[in-house]
Amino acid sequence: MMKQAEHSTAMWTLAGQGVVNGYAIGRAAIMGAAALEVPHYYIEAEAAEAECARLNQAMNQARDDLMSIVQQLPADAPREIVPMLEVHRLLLDDPMLRQQSGEYITERLYNAEWALATQGQNLAAQFDQIEDTYLRERSADIRQVIERVLLILSGQASTPNELALQLDHQEAGLIVVARDISPADMLRLRKVRFSAFLTDLGGPTSHTAIVARSMNIPAVVGLGELRRMVRDGDKLIVDGFKGVVIVNPSEVVLQQYRQLQAQHLSQREQLDQLRDTPAVTLDGVTVQLEANIELPEEAQDAFEAGADGIGLFRSEFLFMGRASLPSEQEQFEAYAAVVRTMQGRPVTIRTLDIGADKTLDGEQTVATNPALGLRAVRYCLMHPDLFQTQLRALLRASQLGLVRILIPMISSMDEVFAVRQALAQAELSLRAEGLLDPFQYELGAMVEVPAMAIAIEPFAQNLDFLSIGTNDLIQYVMAVDRADAEVMGLYDPLHPAVLRLIAHTINRAESYGKPVAVCGEMAGDARLTHMLLGLGLRCFSMPAAQVAWVKQEVLKAHSGALRHKVAAALNRAERIDLQKLH
Ligand code: PEP
Ligand code: MG
Repeated sequence: MMKQAEHSTAMWTLAGQGVVNGYAIGRAAIMGAAALEVPHYYIEAEAAEAECARLNQAMNQARDDLMSIVQQLPADAPREIVPMLEVHRLLLDDPMLRQQSGEYITERLYNAEWALATQGQNLAAQFDQIEDTYLRERSADIRQVIERVLLILSGQASTPNELALQLDHQEAGLIVVARDISPADMLRLRKVRFSAFLTDLGGPTSHTAIVARSMNIPAVVGLGELRRMVRDGDKLIVDGFKGVVIVNPSEVVLQQYRQLQAQHLSQREQLDQLRDTPAVTLDGVTVQLEANIELPEEAQDAFEAGADGIGLFRSEFLFMGRASLPSEQEQFEAYAAVVRTMQGRPVTIRTLDIGADKTLDGEQTVATNPALGLRAVRYCLMHPDLFQTQLRALLRASQLGLVRILIPMISSMDEVFAVRQALAQAELSLRAEGLLDPFQYELGAMVEVPAMAIAIEPFAQNLDFLSIGTNDLIQYVMAVDRADAEVMGLYDPLHPAVLRLIAHTINRAESYGKPVAVCGEMAGDARLTHMLLGLGLRCFSMPAAQVAWVKQEVLKAHSGALRHKVAAALNRAERIDLQKLH
């Protein structure tokens, strides 16, 4: 059972990065941090062999544990978990870890824990030097693997299990606090009721964040030293909206948050009732609210949330974290599953958007600036076999229902023509193989390169639909790397230049009678719904959990009045005051 902490009870707060919205009030359940408390001592030279064997045995056990976790994975476990566990298993067999740690034992006579922790720090430090954000975050994998082995060496291998057991016997209200949470431990915790989790490490692309989103439980990552500063049993408030943790809150603050939490919960319950209500503004304009998904199984959540379709299936998640590329058949099955799940609602599948912070396993980038390099459609056109495989799979899925094929990072009409040619080739090859049913597809492009947004007319004329990727559009308009925490303050979705480009794209698409959506994060931010309606947007695509929140805003909006207000501000290149739109 948790004990109440016996240290300072003054209230203090810490800010990190909110990953999942929501509030939680509860007590800290500290997850083991064996790496921080590792015993350091010298061994006798004659004990070195036995010490090496002790280390190897612990590493073998950690590897066997991981394999049994993979075998017992629940059917609803996020699909990306298996490759993540595989990375951990490979690390356990990596000579860089095993042999080098063994050398610390035999040459320096370190005890096994010390040897392993030292080598782990060396490797993690090397990863920390890497510029690529995604790869840099993989140093967390090393730390997690080392923690697992250290726990086995210390005889407390089951810390996450123990925590799970503790949690099982508690009412909801326990908040997991950890330096980092490995995917394997996250899975164990997934089965248990807890109300939030907080980690010192991790960013928006860390494993913790990926799983957190699929669990939809309030979470804050990147809290720095929280794990060291908080004790088991401390009272905590988690504000996932602001990315803030309040430790030892005063009664007044607790009361405020209890109210906020109750409001949020009852709002969520009320919103569930909107599931089948069409999203229509006060002045009678119907708005499409679609869902973004990364994995085929998420289509079910989208359907249940009442989404009008899939506005963005980021197909690259099928390609990442694995040693080989998915075959045409595997891709076809994934795309077909989404089409079937959506039961006739439109399905937009984006072709491989690899590059920048999303890399294929084993692929080394030589680009000095990968976000401006061989990314997305540029990569696909340079790898025609890979592109053909995907296009054939998409066309086959389109025989089951309408598939909107969405091309990322288009910047020139030449690319559009090249894609059309590749599609014609895929069609021909399938016809030659006797696939006679009609292919039901439309071709569209992401508007995320400023050049395309500025000179949008030929694209609007030649394509069937457009989808504005504000995540990248903002990065390229503002010259701010979307993954770089140091310049996050400059990443400004409300900058008049960004909004003018969105408005221009929507207006021109409208004049050519072509549908246009926004599928970047802005579309799922309910604080921006009125503004986007004012820019003329009529199709929003967002994470499924956001659909109801955005719908609520649509139902309160008068689109005609909003259009006037927003146009007036944009004409003056003024910063839009969101408060004045309500
Ligand atoms: C975008 O850029 O806005 C987008 C939706 O695509 P991604 O976030 O996958 O780059
Ligand atoms: Mg993008």
